[in-house]
Amino acid sequence: MSFTRRQALTSAAAIAAAPLLSPAPVLAAAPPAEKQAPSFYRYKVGDVLVTVVSDGKNVFKLEDAFIPNAKKEDVSAALEKAYMPPGMMTIYFAPLVLNIGGKVVVIDTGNGALAKQNTKGSNGLFADNMVAAGFDPKAVDMVVISHFHTDHVNGLLAADGTPAFPNAEVLVPAVEWKFWMDDGEMSRAPAGRMQGLFKNNRNIFDAGLKRKVTPYEWGKDIAPGLTAVETIGHTPGHTSYVLSSGADKVFIQSDVTNNPNPFATHPEWHAFFDQDGEQAEKTRRRVYDMVSADKLLLQGFHYPFPGLAHLEKDGNGYRVIPMPWNPSI
Ligand SMILES: [Zn+2]
Repeated sequence: MSFTRRQALTSAAAIAAAPLLSPAPVLAAAPPAEKQAPSFYRYKVGDVLVTVVSDGKNVFKLEDAFIPNAKKEDVSAALEKAYMPPGMMTIYFAPLVLNIGGKVVVIDTGNGALAKQNTKGSNGLFADNMVAAGFDPKAVDMVVISHFHTDHVNGLLAADGTPAFPNAEVLVPAVEWKFWMDDGEMSRAPAGRMQGLFKNNRNIFDAGLKRKVTPYEWGKDIAPGLTAVETIGHTPGHTSYVLSSGADKVFIQSDVTNNPNPFATHPEWHAFFDQDGEQAEKTRRRVYDMVSADKLLLQGFHYPFPGLAHLEKDGNGYRVIPMPWNPSI
């Protein structure tokens, strides 16, 4: 029996004419299309449970001043090579929550509740995502700060200016604390961004936390297996961490680079927010040479979520190999 065009048209018409309502109820409602799932990701380092919690992202137009020692067209070309939107820069933010030695320890706090309002939920999402991951801010024992930039400290306060982690001890790098709380340094700070940072830090640590912080030193353990490591340049007291438990180890870099595109592929480029660009580059190369030679896992605050990767030396820069999402822990 041959299937004619006429038959095809007839059966199409028959389908079209069939009643749309089937006797069984339709169970699948249309999924809400405007919102991502709460962004958190868990992995184990020995006995320690690490939860990477997204604070969101910031997307902005690429300006000449963003990388003062590179040509804008070279930066654009590097971003295009990484399939990023042309002429735009994207920065991600990802604080950590550790279940370590029977305690809940937060590392860095994101852009904070006011940023969530000001950016209409583009960032400042750490508090919400942390609760979605099952953590109670009141049950946080310790908050560890890597350095005093707004995207790391502003989440220390709730929207009403009170401490967001009311029962936590707040640990800060001793060198960072000394620099930003020094009145002489503040009076000498250049107008604009640097003065704004001093003002913001005084608001967080004076008005908000009433200076109730515990300064910590490099080379020492903050929690069992969590060691603070000097990685200066980005700020005078910028700190990274080595987390080790059993045979496992991860290097928590904080802002040794910002987004690895373009700062891992081009470690020679100095972002405007590196306070001492030369020193930041030296640190970046030292850390990435070590991480790639030792095949260490790296956790990056500004890396694309969830920010866990390996690095490989590649010419004058480094290639990033993101860890695949693990559906089990
Ligand atoms: Zn940062």
